[in-house]
Amino acid sequence: MNEDLECQEISLLLEGKVNDRLDVAETLRIEEHLATCSACRATVDALDLARRSSRPARSDLWPTLSSRLAASETAWEGGDRVQLEFPDPSWRVAAALAVVLFTLAVIPDPARLLVAAGFL
Ligand SMILES: [Zn+2]
Repeated sequence: MNEDLECQEISLLLEGKVNDRLDVAETLRIEEHLATCSACRATVDALDLARRSSRPARSDLWPTLSSRLAASETAWEGGDRVQLEFPDPSWRVAAALAVVLFTLAVIPDPARLLVAAGFL
């Protein structure tokens, strides 16, 4: 068989090999090819490394998530108040100043507007 063509076919099976999802015949075929093809061996090594360094499957996260949910529900039932966080008061001063500056920039003659509104 053409070497490149065999590599292409093998490459389709490598992910299954790394994750132990191949049957015996496929595994044997890959092992024979890997014995003679350094490029495919390098691919297998890279896939294996990626698999080992990847995060655990979602199902593995459920126990942790479940216990956290249980803890937060307990805290909710036991707590008699909810803490809300507001921004620092200086944020409000800065926002008010920004509104005033914007208004002064947009209105052509602020003094006339105040006179017309009856403030002056
Ligand atoms: Zn190959």
